[in-house]
Amino acid sequence: MTPVVVVLAAPSGGGKTTIARALVARWPERYGFSVSATTRAPRPGERDGEAYFFLSREEFLRRRDAGDFLEWAEYAGELYGTLKREVDRVLQAGRHVLLDIEVQGARQVRQRYPPPASVAVLILPPSAAELVRRLRERRTESAAEMAKRLETAIWELRQAEAFDHVVVNEDLDATVAAVDRIVAAPQATPRAAAEGERIKKLIVDLNQKIKEIS
Ligand code: 5GP
Repeated sequence: MTPVVVVLAAPSGGGKTTIARALVARWPERYGFSVSATTRAPRPGERDGEAYFFLSREEFLRRRDAGDFLEWAEYAGELYGTLKREVDRVLQAGRHVLLDIEVQGARQVRQRYPPPASVAVLILPPSAAELVRRLRERRTESAAEMAKRLETAIWELRQAEAFDHVVVNEDLDATVAAVDRIVAAPQATPRAAAEGERIKKLIVDLNQKIKEIS
């Protein structure tokens, strides 16, 4: 097995963190997780060095200028970045490295690791209502923050063509198996044409949700 960089992207609340954790739990010899750096505050239960490396803005920018990041991006007003050190650590252990990142970062990674060195998978929520429900369940976002995240989700869905593969996350086990199949044989799993329509519908429904919230 040649280890590759696996970019998992999804609108916030799309479930990609859960999917990445499940891949590592199921196949610990096959997958490893890259811990990102961020300037956002930890949510309850998130520990430094596990969920993220939590940095001040100043420290983040210092590390960016020192060239520590493979990619970085601003998302909902905070900075997020993939540490080169983390990616190398996992690849050198002979495992695929999972990056749970947003779309701008995904693009940068694709440039640094062109296919077949990387595989990009867009994870879609089954519906707009389900995405809102998952975000609400987290209880960390105010109405304004929620609307901002949904706006970002729409923007991200419009970038779907940046991804080779799309998986709809209805059921965790099925999604995890689908991502593993794609990573094992990316060419054998082409993107289905029907997903373009699904993405368009999600965008329409998310716009409606934003109106309801605001
Ligand atoms: P959250 O604040 O909900 O943990 O993450 C917000 C968004 O930032 C998610 O879409 C998440 O995938 C993305 N993200 C997390 N780490 C990184 C990273 O290292 N780089 C980039 N570009 N995005 C990240």
